[in-house]
Amino acid sequence: MSLVRTIKSLAEAQLKSISAEDLNYLESTLKREVLPNLDPKVKRLLNLLSLALELSPIPSTLRLFSTLSIERRRKWLETINVEGTTYDITILLDTLLMVIHMMNPRVSSRINYKREEVVSKIQLEPRTVLSRSGKPQGVYDVVIVGSGAGGAVVAWELVRREFKVALFEVGPEPTQDELIKLHPFLRAFKYYWDNGFTFTWGKPIIDLPFGRVLGGTVTVNSGTMFRMPDEALGLWYKASGITIDSGALNSAYETVERMLGVKQVPENLLGGNAMVMRKGAEALGLKLHGPVRRPLGDPIKCRGVGECAFGCPSNGKVDMRLSFLKEAVNKGLEVYTHAFVRRVLLSDGKALGVEVELGGTVVRVESKVVVVSAGALNTPRLLLTSGVKNRNLGAHLHIHPGLGVTAIMDQKVYGWIGTMQSYYVADLLKDFRVLLLATLPPPGIGFSTGSIPFDEIYDYPYIAAIGVQVSDDGTGIVPRRTILGVANYDLSSEDLEKIRRGIELSAEILLAAGAKRVYLPLKVVQGVNSIGEVKEALSKAKPKMFKVSAYHPMSTARMAKDPGTGVVDGDGRVFGYSNLYVADASVLPSTTIVNPQLTINALSLIIAQRIAKELGG
Ligand SMILES: Cc1cc2nc3c(=O)[nH]c(=O)nc-3n(C[C@H](O)[C@H](O)[C@H](O)COP(=O)(O)OP(=O)(O)OC[C@H]3O[C@@H](n4cnc5c(N)ncnc54)[C@H](O)[C@@H]3O)c2cc1C
Ligand code: SF4
Repeated sequence: MSLVRTIKSLAEAQLKSISAEDLNYLESTLKREVLPNLDPKVKRLLNLLSLALELSPIPSTLRLFSTLSIERRRKWLETINVEGTTYDITILLDTLLMVIHMMNPRVSSRINYKREEVVSKIQLEPRTVLSRSGKPQGVYDVVIVGSGAGGAVVAWELVRREFKVALFEVGPEPTQDELIKLHPFLRAFKYYWDNGFTFTWGKPIIDLPFGRVLGGTVTVNSGTMFRMPDEALGLWYKASGITIDSGALNSAYETVERMLGVKQVPENLLGGNAMVMRKGAEALGLKLHGPVRRPLGDPIKCRGVGECAFGCPSNGKVDMRLSFLKEAVNKGLEVYTHAFVRRVLLSDGKALGVEVELGGTVVRVESKVVVVSAGALNTPRLLLTSGVKNRNLGAHLHIHPGLGVTAIMDQKVYGWIGTMQSYYVADLLKDFRVLLLATLPPPGIGFSTGSIPFDEIYDYPYIAAIGVQVSDDGTGIVPRRTILGVANYDLSSEDLEKIRRGIELSAEILLAAGAKRVYLPLKVVQGVNSIGEVKEALSKAKPKMFKVSAYHPMSTARMAKDPGTGVVDGDGRVFGYSNLYVADASVLPSTTIVNPQLTINALSLIIAQRIAKELGG
């Protein structure tokens, strides 16, 4: 039984009109470009799912799935689809077959997706490589683990004050060639942790992708920038007893926004998907909607290629590489990529440095201060492995559960053109902490796109999608070790109610904008075309039937007033250690309500200023 054979047989069942030529493309791309680049862990998971699918018909048919006729395979997938079982077994296999099929030049041309033509016009100036080869030398003032929203800002602030700083990042530095020439799906493979197939374990299973690349998840995020609403600081106080100086936070926001060139998306880059959202919101008389703010830089280089979540090919999204890290390297920051920090060296309440796997060997790097900025899923693991003991470490995980509501519109939208996420509706934000964002990744990619039935994929130009993003009351946990998944997380009943409201309003917006059919993010795919049908479908759906993905893990080493409630103090210093700090999404005391990058950047800047003061800078 081979994985390729199972995926091909699944493709014949799911894609009714797939030709022999297209099946050959699927097979050769899988063999040449996908399977050889898979992380062994992911390959094992895919093999397991493929085995489950192959064996599933044996009790009733005595045949393997791939040996059934195409018609019987289709019927079998329908038969087992009780409360979305088919989805649970086939999700990853379906994801692979869908994206590879959409990469097929014959399919791209059928739907008029002209990536090659658009990116061939992009002309970039040669960019300085930020990472260096060789080994770190001597004792550093500060060592930083991770180059994302937190680590990059800390590095910038400290080298600006002339400290000797080394930064270790386990992921690669993307090359301009890769960003332009590689299909976004193949870039996702390279730049995401476990090829992008990371998920939480619980009810339901939630896709939770995050970056493993220079610049951290910011290199592969959607680039939407919000300052937190005032209410968030109250939530933080309630969660962990910490009071944040709002003046300092606002001043940090200003610095970060200046560095990233944050501004509202101009009309010419909004794209068709945003226009659908605007039309629907206006028709319904909604009050709080408009273009989002993004790190567009000065002058704006965004060409609306719509691939922000896979590394921007045009340098149009000013991420950490193009801003804080670039300036910091110019001022002396040493950046090491493919450098995995195994543990922080701790002794008698002090950090001595880190132990790093670098260039095939393990090196000890000494420093006066260690800052862990490995992200909310890796920071707690690294600290636990290093011997930090605190029962809050890994706990209180918020993720901002998200769901995609999709529609086939009455006119062509070409929603993949324009910034990938460009328009918001915030009418549910105050009362329910639900934000709606017009989001449409390139054809075939993205858990956030929701439920596009296989039968509709050639109608891609007509597709519009809205992402429902929920600020969660429920929390999960990042354990030190897991067998399956990166965290344990169950949706709470309060959050489920918010999800229902968000889906309902998204469906209303799409219908008001002229949707012919709306597809709800449920595992049993169902097209609806009236709000009555939406309500009925949602009232029947059990929690495990929602298709949920999430992109904002946070609060797993939260800032608090004491070690009984959190892991770090108001300066970001780990309780019990005089020179060990955390600066990333894990220190957020609770949810940011809106997208967190800007707040992580700002809080990390404040932490860096405190470290500088401590070091005498
Ligand atoms: C698809 C997607 C879209 C998103 N869109 C938005 C958006 O539009 N707006 C927004 O505000 N937020 C968005 N986010 C979330 C945002 O990008 C993250 O919240 C933010 O980047 C988290 O910052 P961080 O510093 O905590 O971690 P990261 O940015 O993830 O950085 C951590 C880095 O540490 C490295 N690392 C981990 N462990 C080690 C180790 N042991 N040794 C060395 N290096 C290590 C990782 O490889 C990673 O590069 C999105 C996220 C995703 C996945
Ligand atoms: S839409 Fe996103 S990926 Fe495309 S050019 Fe603009 S920032 Fe880059």
